[in-house]
Parts: sequence; structure tokens; C-alpha cells
Amino acid sequence: MNDIDFESRFESGNLRMAIKLTDNEYDLILRNDINANKYAQWFYFKIQIKFKEPKRIKFNIINCEKADSPYSKGSRILQYSTTTNKWSRKSILNKYYKNSYSTFDDKNLYTLSFSVNLGEENLNETVYFAYCYPYTYSYLQEYINKLVTQKNANKIMNHEVIATTLAGNNLDMILVTDFLGEFDDIAGRPCIILTSRVHPGESNSSFVIHGLIEFITGDSDSAKLLRKKYIFKIIPMLNPDGVINGCFRTNLRGKDLNRQWKEPSLQVSPTILSIKETVKKTLLSRNIYLYCDFHGHSNKKNFFLYGCNNNNNKKGKTTLQEIILAKLLGRKLDFFDYASSIFKIAPGKLKTGRAVIKKEYDIDFSYCLESSMEGISIGKNKNTFFTPALYKEIGYAFCNALYDMVNQEIFMSILYDLQLEEALKLVNNVSIINNIDLDDDEGNTKTEVDKIENYFISAYGNSGNGHNSGNTGSNKPQKHVQSQNQINHIHLVNQKDKLKLKPINKLKNNDKLNDKFESLITEKIDKSGAVNEKSEKVTKDKLSVSNKVLLGVSNNLSNNLVSPSLKNINQKGMLEPARHSSNNNLVNFKNRLPKVRIYLNLNIYLLL
Ligand SMILES: [Zn+2]
Repeated sequence: MNDIDFESRFESGNLRMAIKLTDNEYDLILRNDINANKYAQWFYFKIQIKFKEPKRIKFNIINCEKADSPYSKGSRILQYSTTTNKWSRKSILNKYYKNSYSTFDDKNLYTLSFSVNLGEENLNETVYFAYCYPYTYSYLQEYINKLVTQKNANKIMNHEVIATTLAGNNLDMILVTDFLGEFDDIAGRPCIILTSRVHPGESNSSFVIHGLIEFITGDSDSAKLLRKKYIFKIIPMLNPDGVINGCFRTNLRGKDLNRQWKEPSLQVSPTILSIKETVKKTLLSRNIYLYCDFHGHSNKKNFFLYGCNNNNNKKGKTTLQEIILAKLLGRKLDFFDYASSIFKIAPGKLKTGRAVIKKEYDIDFSYCLESSMEGISIGKNKNTFFTPALYKEIGYAFCNALYDMVNQEIFMSILYDLQLEEALKLVNNVSIINNIDLDDDEGNTKTEVDKIENYFISAYGNSGNGHNSGNTGSNKPQKHVQSQNQINHIHLVNQKDKLKLKPINKLKNNDKLNDKFESLITEKIDKSGAVNEKSEKVTKDKLSVSNKVLLGVSNNLSNNLVSPSLKNINQKGMLEPARHSSNNNLVNFKNRLPKVRIYLNLNIYLLL
């Protein structure tokens, strides 16, 4: 007689078979995605205990397909007890390893092995196990119904079924905006399109977009402002059939819908076809400011962003426009992982939502936001597992970051931080060259200086009479800076373009970064031995150029970084999103930063 009953025949359930090995151990087999013959990874099943006293049971899921798993790095299985009515991660001895089985096409299979103490609190309990917190299609339907029937809902949202799936389920879209505005105002609002759950096994992405919907339909000032500013078209579940049937990756045709965006069809991928129609229809009447598709990541921790290189950014360099949302999210939540973020489209991702939306429709901002199905490794939540509440926080943070994207002051402060961040990186490229005479006896410039081809920053000081002694129009370094004079200006000159940028005299609110920059420079100068007897008058004090260097660099960057489209600041201080994006030419800043050399010998020059 069985002392455990297994059941997975419920919505989103997946467990094909349980094989009893001993009284304390079971092998479990997951069902492949329907019509796909692969992608076994998502599981969701329940067990009913029938034994008479508590015991430890070992389960081995023996047909997992992914080579890498967080379970091999200490993660634990999610379980839900009907005694406590809570999800927890109490399993022990989690292991994930390659086993001796293989798929029909000879791919290796892996075993996820875990043990659970059962019946400790209640011998009659039912325990559910899941790959990630389940979020079902029915739950979404209930939520949408609750949303649209609440008081005054019609003032800020409506709900449409924009297509039906292969199995006849709804593809829901929630449209959110402030409908009480003037007709012309509403008609001119740019659109933000947000989609989620194209991959059924990434149930965490549903909690993220759930949080986002909660926020954007809520009462906060930023939600109100965003509703006045934009029209949100939110499609919370792109693959209802896959979700209902407990698939990991595909729809009922066995297709990964996130590879169907290039040529979707009514027969194979009607939901994707419908989204593209929505995009096209939207573009007939208004600009689309941003698109984001929400996903879950099974292996990496934290949450992060995948963006696109701009259509006009042929060199594949990173621009501010590409990273701005990531920078803003990083300010909102300390478990945003910039290091895991990518701002280019890899060749294998060309058929994904974010790539196709970007490339085919030239949308300014097109992203995929990934959140870990497992845990957090940075910030104050370090070493904890994600919870539905934390996923929802990502949704809230996303809205707050959107709010910041249209706030000039915040945008400029991000810009400023970025400049400083990049300026600090310069320090790593600084090399100190001692005792270089820039002029020969006749005052002719030596070849060393002639080598200066592109940019240099010249530092020059007050000659003592209170006037700036620098030749601000010069495209070569100022001669003979007197060491006893305080260096008070840095000019950056682009020799090629004869472009001269104005110096700025004060760095606001960034003393910490200034100090860091200065101490690193000083350390470098110390190590170089450049300050020696020969140049004894050149003290570190006098060489305290770092702030000014930073100013010069910062100034250079700020002049180059501000996108024409982002310069459209209206009277309320809000950044107007560009209606046409084709002329966006944010200049790459990362790779603009060249090597820096500091020449010491009464003259300080930075050769860029
Ligand atoms: Zn995904």
C-alpha cells in the first residue's frame, strides 16, 4: 500500500510519474513540455501523507535537462504545507548532478535530489512542491476581475481580450492611463508596452508584473503622474496555455514563443502575432516610449536588465540611453545587479521580443527584465531567497524608475554620477611620466607633444596677478605652469575638431567620489616616484589636480552624453520623450575615455 499519494492534475501542475524505490525514497519523472519532447524542468505537485509517524523522505527528480542549477549551489526546494499555509524552503540534502540517463536525442539528464521531513506537525497534511512560486492563469483572471470592478476603475483602466490562445484562453491586456484628461492630451501620450510570462516556468515574472500593475493602478503621486504622462498597455501573461498546462518553456505547439517574434503566425503563435498587431496599431496614433518583457532567470541571482544596442549605434558601444533604466533601477533596489545586465543583443536573441520590437519598430527603450527564480546575493537582502513580496517590489521599483526617467533633476543627477563613475575609471589608465620637458630651449614643441593627436586636458594656474594665465583658445598645452601657483582650471581640448569645452569650477554633492579620485591619483604619483628632488617644488599639494581633472573629464562627458531627445525638457522640468527616435545619437562614453598620462615637471598635462 502507498504511504504517499502523488497528484499533479491541477492547473500548472507537472509531475508525470513517481516510482517508489524504498519506504523512504522515490524517483520522480517530470512531463516534457507539450509537443516539445523536452524542457522538463518546471514541477508542481502535491503529496498526501498516509504514514503513521513522521519520517524523512528522499525524492529524486531524475529527468531535469539543464546542466546548471541553483540546487547544486545550496538552493532549496519550495514547499507549501496545508498545515501552515505557507511556502517555505525546509528541504535538506539538496543535490543536483548528472545521472546515467539521457534524452531520446542523447542529451544528458540530471537528477535533483532532496529530502524532506514529513508529518512533523501534522500527519494528515498535504504538501505541495514547486519549482518556483506558482502563479496560475486562474489567479490572474481573478486579479484582473477584481481590478476592473473596483470603484472608479474606469477612470484609469480598461481590460481587453486582444486574442485567444490555441486552446481558446484569453490573452488579456490591461490599459492604464488617466482617462480624465483632455482629449488632445490623452491622444498625445506616448505608450509604454509591458509583457510577461512568455515562458510558463518563469512564474516569478508574473509576481513582478503583478506588483507593477498594483503600483500603476494605485494611489501614489508617481502612479498618478505616470498615468497622466503615458498610456500603459500591459499584457501580463503571454502564454496562458503553457502556464495552465505546467510547461516550462513553450506553448501547446511546443514552440518557445520568445523566438517567434520575427514571424509569428495565427497557427503557431497567435498571442505574439496579436502583440505585434497591437504595437503596429499603437504606432499609427502615438509614439511607443518603452517596451519591456519580464522574465525569470533560473540560474543567476538578483534581478537585472537586458537591453539593446541602439539601431544607430553601429559600433556596438554602450550609450547612456541604453543603460539609463538599469542605473535608475539600481538606485531603487539594492539587489539590482548591474554586473549581470547586458545592453546588446546576442546573435541567438534576435528573434526575442526585445530585439524585434527594437529593430523592427525602432523603439527608444526596449528591454527584458530578468529576476532570479532563486535568491539574492547583494545588498541588505544578501543570502536570502526571493519571495513573492520581493518580486512585487521589483514591479514597484520599475514604475519608480520610469517616473525618474521623466524627471529632469533625477535624470541629470544620474548623468552626473555616471560621469564621475567613468572618470574614476580613468585613474586606472593613468600613467605618470616624470620630467618631460615639453619645450626645447627655443620654445619649440618637442615631438612628445606632437604625438598628442586627439584630446588633451591642459591644466594651468593663476600666474599670481589674479588672472587666468591660460590660453583658453590654444590647442596645445600651456607652457611653464608655475608650480607655486594653484592650478585652477582644466580645459579639455579636442584638437581634431577644435572643440573647446568650458571648465566648470565646482563639483556638487560628490565630495566622496572626488576624494576617492584624488587619493587614487596621489597614490599613483607617490608610487611613480615622480615627485623627487628634481621637482621638489612640485608638492602633492600643488599637484592636487584631481578635482580639476575630474571636472574636465566630467565636463567633456556631460557635453557628449545628453541625448538630443532627452534634452527636450518642458516647463515643468519634465523630460519629454522623443516622438521620433531615429536621430538619437547619444555618444558612447565608455569607450571615449582614452588613456591618461600625467606629465610632471612644473607642467601637468593629461594626454587623453
Ligand atoms: Zn524567459
